[in-house]
Amino acid sequence: ATLRSVSSFKFSDLEVKHQDLSKLQQKPDASKLVFGKYFTDHMMEVNWDSTTGWGKPVISPLHNLQIHPGAKVLHYAVELFEGMKAFRGVDGNIRLFRPDCNMERMIRTAERSSLPTFHGNELIECIKRLVTMDKEWVPHSEASSLYIRPTFIGTEPALGVVSPSSALLFVVLCPVGPYFASGQKPVSLLADPSYVRAWPGGCGAMKMGSNYAPTIRIQKVAEQSGHQQVLWLYGDDHQLTEAGTMNIFVFLKNKNGEKELVTPPLNGLILPGVTRRSLLELAREWNEFKVSERDITMAEVKEALDEDRLLEIFGAGTACVVCPVSSISYEGKRLSIPTMEHASPLNTRFLKTINDIQYGRVDHPWAVRI
Ligand code: PMP
Repeated sequence: ATLRSVSSFKFSDLEVKHQDLSKLQQKPDASKLVFGKYFTDHMMEVNWDSTTGWGKPVISPLHNLQIHPGAKVLHYAVELFEGMKAFRGVDGNIRLFRPDCNMERMIRTAERSSLPTFHGNELIECIKRLVTMDKEWVPHSEASSLYIRPTFIGTEPALGVVSPSSALLFVVLCPVGPYFASGQKPVSLLADPSYVRAWPGGCGAMKMGSNYAPTIRIQKVAEQSGHQQVLWLYGDDHQLTEAGTMNIFVFLKNKNGEKELVTPPLNGLILPGVTRRSLLELAREWNEFKVSERDITMAEVKEALDEDRLLEIFGAGTACVVCPVSSISYEGKRLSIPTMEHASPLNTRFLKTINDIQYGRVDHPWAVRI
């Protein structure tokens, strides 16, 4: 490893500045938790500089950033982020879900972004302290959670498309409600092959802001035509890749009559989701049906649907764990997907299994106590 990749900021250097008691915010009503709108009282920051390396991590009251108008992040989108959650368990303990997986992805994205790397464990320990300080913000509810947003930006105040010589890593926290106000509501998807989210050799497997800005307009197109999300296709054969900001799963009976759970492979076109990985690991452990990471095209989905072999389609991601799909609009037709028509669907079994781990109803190594 290079010197740079082994250097890191250290949790043991963490400095903590508490917000004045008189300035602590009123917490929003649990029923009004719009995603990403409310922030807790504190944030964490650590600066990096190419000559002095990583600075000391600092937790301090939530504040605006001061940034030079020439900062690289503002021009070339030198930015990446993560999305993870803390849950208040049935025993009152607060747990993170597989934070090591988020750190792995964040460090891989930092390398691709030409930003410095760090030790994932050091950031996890800083995050645990931040969540502990703002623990009253972790909702007292088994339907809600605290969303954790680590972010990393290039701050060097100089134009020019080169590695930034300074950067800022920060973490903010948002209490969030259930993804669906009224249980698991199925979604309809717009699958229009004229829009592409990622391509071979690109950065689709990275969690960088520059992947997301161009999707906003297309999400609006989907909404304006009566859909909730975009089903991102790729290639002349219209491979399924992702649904909105979720990985996609198809549960079907294959041509040999076997039940098979299919999700697209990690070929660079999709984000390697922590939820995706968890569902695959659970399904392989259950060993009750075939589990495949392989390409799946719209033609295969249509054929399975026509032959009554399509069982379920669902998205998978941190926001909702699983999100059942009820229809896909494709080539001018609305395909009706029978995801919700099963007595005991696989997607709800996944949801319950993951929720039980997150809220501490079962003990599991994926749940990390703060
Ligand atoms: N795909 C994309 C494009 C995403 O933004 C996300 C959310 N991080 C996911 C998939 C799901 O990943 P995870 O399970 O880690 O939340």
